[in-house]
Amino acid sequence: MNRELLEQQLSELPIAQYEFFRTEELEFAPRIRMICETECPRYGKTWACPPAVGTVAECKARCLSYPEGLLITSLAEVSSTSHMEECLATRPAHEAMTRQVIELLEAQGKEVYGLSTESCAICKECTYPSAPCRHREQMLPCLESHAIVATALADKYGIEYLYGPQVVTWFSILLYR
Ligand code: SF4
Repeated sequence: MNRELLEQQLSELPIAQYEFFRTEELEFAPRIRMICETECPRYGKTWACPPAVGTVAECKARCLSYPEGLLITSLAEVSSTSHMEECLATRPAHEAMTRQVIELLEAQGKEVYGLSTESCAICKECTYPSAPCRHREQMLPCLESHAIVATALADKYGIEYLYGPQVVTWFSILLYR
């Protein structure tokens, strides 16, 4: 991979921070999936969430089949991070940027498995579970659903994610081979 070219391209996008890593560095913790199951209203509502994404073991095995990864973050200002609707309204820009980075990796011949934060909101009404996903190529499964402890990776590489009550930090993890 031409890392220099990619980093030049990344510098032209509204990415707050990024880091390349080995997928084996990821920490998987079933407690993250427990939060999906017990606290998230989107559980069982989309193809991007559990149980549609598979078991934690299946998700982990899928992730590890892509040996390398790129973590990217972006920031969005909101009146308060406790206003979930306002926070979620800032997510499409992060998702669009994530897809741009996926395209950059694909342009270098990489097969990419992209994961992003939260549930999928591409369609007004998800087809789950009665029909296949309408936009499988664009859909980014939720990284929390894969039991990935994104903050552990962020802490390891000095990626900031706590900017106070008026800034949302969005994460994406792009695994590739
Ligand atoms: S792209 Fe549409 S059908 Fe597929 S997971 Fe997202 S909302 Fe559901």
